[in-house]
Amino acid sequence: MTQTEVVLEEKVNLFQQVQRQIDQAASIMQLEPGIHSILREPMREIRVSLPLKTDDGRLRLFEGFRVQYNDARGPTKGGIRFHPDETIDTVRALAAWMTWKCAIMDLPYGGAKGGIICNPKEMSSRELEALSRTYIDKIYDFLGPEKDIPAPDVYTTPQIMAWMMDEYSKLRGCYCPGVITGKPISLGGSLGRDDATARGGVYVVREAARWLKMELSGARVAVQGYGNAGSFAAVLLGKELGAKIVAVSDSRGGIYNPQGLDPTAVLQYKKKTGSVVDFGGAEFVSNKEILELDVDILIPAALEDQITGENADRIKARVVAELANGPTTPEADKLLHEKGVFVIPDFLCNAGGVTVSYFEWVQNISGYSWPGETVKQRLDARMTTAFEQVLSLFKEYEVDLRMAAYILAIKRVSEVMQLRGWI
Ligand code: GLU
Repeated sequence: MTQTEVVLEEKVNLFQQVQRQIDQAASIMQLEPGIHSILREPMREIRVSLPLKTDDGRLRLFEGFRVQYNDARGPTKGGIRFHPDETIDTVRALAAWMTWKCAIMDLPYGGAKGGIICNPKEMSSRELEALSRTYIDKIYDFLGPEKDIPAPDVYTTPQIMAWMMDEYSKLRGCYCPGVITGKPISLGGSLGRDDATARGGVYVVREAARWLKMELSGARVAVQGYGNAGSFAAVLLGKELGAKIVAVSDSRGGIYNPQGLDPTAVLQYKKKTGSVVDFGGAEFVSNKEILELDVDILIPAALEDQITGENADRIKARVVAELANGPTTPEADKLLHEKGVFVIPDFLCNAGGVTVSYFEWVQNISGYSWPGETVKQRLDARMTTAFEQVLSLFKEYEVDLRMAAYILAIKRVSEVMQLRGWI
């Protein structure tokens, strides 16, 4: 058998990776086999065909999904991705992670995720609106403020949430802002939702540094992915914690300057030109190279499967803060743990987004909006508490932080399943 065949044989899809993680946590916790079997499968999966009349008059058929993974703790919650590489397995994996994320943040939600296989970068605004509305037409019966509440994710925006909320409200014959979060502020969105994922990540990096006794002022940071989460994180890490952002990247490649970059100027440059590449006074690095730079903190904020068994050995950062979902494979996790790299797992590190989504939903259903400062303080309190709770299991079980987060999430979900008499 050749080397390539061995690699192919061992390649598991993202959802199989999640199932392995659940199996590992179950064995450490000696989880009751019945609960274990429920937790390793999605509760409900919806697949829809989405016809769209394109601007040039053709009819194209798109495929969309919504996976509602587990609703023991409350209505399911999770974003919708528009991405050409979307598959049912990535959506399943992400829906499972939403379940754990909401549980460790102690939000009254289960987990879900949606996706449409499409390339929004090649679509007009009219086409995106039509596709978004059609998606809601096909699944609205399974949505609702007390059933399943979507939100933005990769390549979906507040404007897309506004169209979806409008479509749902029309179909239901009511004004229903609580069905979706991440909306524009004037349509029931929450102050502080735009930078919430990054801000939550910055709070847990601050807590991790406190535990590791690591100096953050002047700490060198590389950010892979300069979208919503990555760019806000770079700006906030610089502004609020005094860290030095030395490298950032987007889908076209990255830039590196060991003296430090101005994250706001880079963001403005990207808005103007469409990419960070060619920003003055920095050298080009690829999306692979940026992961291996000599930095203190590495922030994967792009897509899944970036740090793998192949490159984990070359990661030099002391802390990896996963703002993306699923950027580290289980094989890489093991190698990083052995090397002493402190990996803050995705469903803790990027939980700020769904936490402020929860605040948005609370404001929507109570009809009362909060000042931005209140959002920030409550987000900080929740992120800090979740970090402390995960850290305490990390010490108790002597596992890595991801396993500790799994153990906390599974404990919380299985406890309510038991209380509700499901098992
Ligand atoms: N898509 C974000 C996530 O993966 C936010 C989900 C939400 O706000 O419901 O956490």
